[in-house]
Amino acid sequence: MALIVHKYGGTSMGSVERIKNVAQRVAKWHAAGHQMVVVPSAMSGETNRLIALAKEIQAQPDPRELDMVASTGEQVSVGLLSMALNAIGVPAVSYAGWQVPVRTDDAFTKARIESIDDARVRADLAAGRVVIITGFQGVDSNGNITTLGRGGSDTSAVAVAAALQAAECLIYTDVDGVYTTDPRIVPEARRLARVTFEEMLEMASLGSKVLQIRSVEFAGKYRVKTRVLSSLTPPDIDLATEAESGTLITFEEDEQMEKAVISGIAFNRDEAKITVTNVPDRPGIAYQILGPVAEANIDVDMIIQNASVGGNTDFSFTVHRNEYQKAIAVLNDTVKSRIQAGDIVGDPKIAKVSVVGIGMRSHVGIASLMFRTLSQEGINIQMISTSEIKISVVIEDKYMELAVRALHKAFELDQPAAA
Ligand code: ASP
Ligand code: MG
Repeated sequence: MALIVHKYGGTSMGSVERIKNVAQRVAKWHAAGHQMVVVPSAMSGETNRLIALAKEIQAQPDPRELDMVASTGEQVSVGLLSMALNAIGVPAVSYAGWQVPVRTDDAFTKARIESIDDARVRADLAAGRVVIITGFQGVDSNGNITTLGRGGSDTSAVAVAAALQAAECLIYTDVDGVYTTDPRIVPEARRLARVTFEEMLEMASLGSKVLQIRSVEFAGKYRVKTRVLSSLTPPDIDLATEAESGTLITFEEDEQMEKAVISGIAFNRDEAKITVTNVPDRPGIAYQILGPVAEANIDVDMIIQNASVGGNTDFSFTVHRNEYQKAIAVLNDTVKSRIQAGDIVGDPKIAKVSVVGIGMRSHVGIASLMFRTLSQEGINIQMISTSEIKISVVIEDKYMELAVRALHKAFELDQPAAA
């Protein structure tokens, strides 16, 4: 018997029928003697619908009021799931974030969880009840309802699991785990039985949409054993089989197995590239270019500056595509005149493709295999960045799928991992 947290995404909660299936699955775990806490998302499409309603009234809704509206989808979910459990004879109780309470800061629409009070939940668990807590929402120190940002229920679930020191947090979703890459692009992509938290963090930040990145950070910080698995299996499948399915997020030091060098290929088309040409190469230049960009609250990702020949160089960086126009405007308004640079040129039609794996730490030749593969496909690399466990390149976006397929094959990710 253990304390287990289940999280169900919007698709799993998408209709009354599906909610009844979730209830069956939770009932099975409860019947096996586990203490169960369940954190569901809003029914699929519901949060989008609520945000659209708000925007019909105000183009830029007041963030506090927006959270008041957007958080309600989860309140419907927890109530319905609790009823579905009661209807099949399983005692259950639902709570909104403020009732637990799940305390957050006051950054409306992107609040961070600060603490979770476990007293009420533990009392219910001790009385044999399944406890159902809204995902996505919390309450700030002034009693205002907050939300954690899109996809935030993952983070709610992992945070609840951390607060209760749960044995495991199972994230049920419409994919059956974490894959070596997106199977829609590479049909031979394989599900990873295990992936380390460090790799998962890179994959989440590089475009894999399986888990909200903050939930992965939380799992790492509080060492929550987290598993991603399918909610589409029949709810009455054998519990032991279900408990071993999907992908387990592990910690590097716990990994005894010989790991593949590369675990996955991540990609995204979320960024745009900006180059300031003919920049005088002198102290303070990077600061003079990126300072005003940061002041405009624009996040910068990759940055490159070449060594100068004859005193001038080009300076390139990437920003999110949504902030591309804003970044260009900032540079034209403030930077250009100040540093006597050449032109500000940009390209939103780029993609970032990355190979990720902790095995990179102890293997040489990963970068050269990556670059050779891209060169054999005739793909030009525009920018490169590396960390200890990933190499990312920026390429023209029309070659993204080709690059992902070629790299997946070159790193033999379609082959079963060596044991
Ligand atoms: N319902 C919220 C959203 O759609 C939170 C979540 O589903 O994780 O973003
Ligand atoms: Mg989600």
